[in-house]
Amino acid sequence: MSGPCLPVAPAAPLARRSRQARVTWGSRVVTVGGDAPVRVQSMTNTDTVDAIGTAIQVKELALAGSELVRITVNTPEAAQQVPYIREQLDRMGIDVPLIGDFHYNGHRLLTEFPDCAQALSKYRINPGNVGKGDKKDRQFAQMIEAALRWDKPVRIGVNWGSLDQELLAQLMDENAARAQPWEARQVMYEALITSAIQSAQLAEELGMRHEQVLLSCKVSGVQDLIAVYRELAKRCDYPLHLGLTEAGMGTKGTVASAVAMGILLQEGIGDTIRVSLTPQPGEPRTQEVVIASEILQSLGLRTFVPSVTACPGCGRTTSTTFQELAKQIDDYLRAQMPVWRAKYPGVEKMKVAVMGCIVNGPGESKHADIGISLPGTGEAPAAPVFIDGQKALTLRGENIAAEFHQIVENYIEKRFGTPVAESA
Ligand code: SF4
Repeated sequence: MSGPCLPVAPAAPLARRSRQARVTWGSRVVTVGGDAPVRVQSMTNTDTVDAIGTAIQVKELALAGSELVRITVNTPEAAQQVPYIREQLDRMGIDVPLIGDFHYNGHRLLTEFPDCAQALSKYRINPGNVGKGDKKDRQFAQMIEAALRWDKPVRIGVNWGSLDQELLAQLMDENAARAQPWEARQVMYEALITSAIQSAQLAEELGMRHEQVLLSCKVSGVQDLIAVYRELAKRCDYPLHLGLTEAGMGTKGTVASAVAMGILLQEGIGDTIRVSLTPQPGEPRTQEVVIASEILQSLGLRTFVPSVTACPGCGRTTSTTFQELAKQIDDYLRAQMPVWRAKYPGVEKMKVAVMGCIVNGPGESKHADIGISLPGTGEAPAAPVFIDGQKALTLRGENIAAEFHQIVENYIEKRFGTPVAESA
């Protein structure tokens, strides 16, 4: 069937419609929501009582690209250490805002440890865990009082693992009275959303400014997360923190987070993201930052590191040379970014291709800023290198990897380095 030939419109994430919040520490201001970039957030898994260990992990997360870092504040001992953690970070020149994660006793900790309340840049309040019965609103109000006193924004962070059971029971009763009751899952969605929005409204009634309140409604199922956030985004304009809670380990956690958040981010939903990955033994905590950054970069929402395009290999590549080279280049580029961000502005937009044979190698390499097409099995042992779309040279012999590495370094210095002023 033939029809009029129209150009295919490029796909792009929809614009977001949330208000803008500001999370600050000293002169560092991280804008969230509105037209601000979608921010990467992470959370430490150290014992907060271990101030040095926590400060070191916060530093690692920040250097990996986390723009906001949350720490657990669960005991008086932990609350006591928060100002020291902040101090250590300031000494190390790490000005990333710290977010305090409170459950059950946040009202007491924020009141009894004012230095902690002051050192944090934002408080996470879980309305399902602030207290039961008549204590609930009183203890919630105490946390809001601290936020008002120290002029801090709050995130109302609802989680289906700790959903407000009184609210859920009330909505279940209302549902039972419906002529056509909703499915239990739909009532749960409603409870999550209602808990977040009612708590946000209460925070405003207590004196918080609209733009000081952020929301999240985390669940662990991909389809559940999509359903809940679509509705949440319809019903309010608070900036939304997005994440699949308890995403799991390794491939499962990575894929589930990417799928769920990718769909929502494409629809313009989500202002900060966190990948709640369970680290595999020996895996650095920074992996969750790498994945979150990769999700945003893959969608074209942010650029954090130069991207490496590498083919999957096939029967035409029986050696591991190109896999090793692709990994070396990728590791190298990531490792350099903490320094390069300042030294080579714009380097994060660079594209490198490492390809396995002549079939797609030269073509893909030409699309990159710098690319190499390695010889496949049976091909002449030569690797053409393409720079800015043109074939620049051909590498041969045993040192192709090292030579290509050097070519990439030279390219970055020449293209992104600060030109040295010529003397008169
Ligand atoms: S570029 Fe060559 S080696 Fe790589 S997947 Fe395609 S055919 Fe296979």
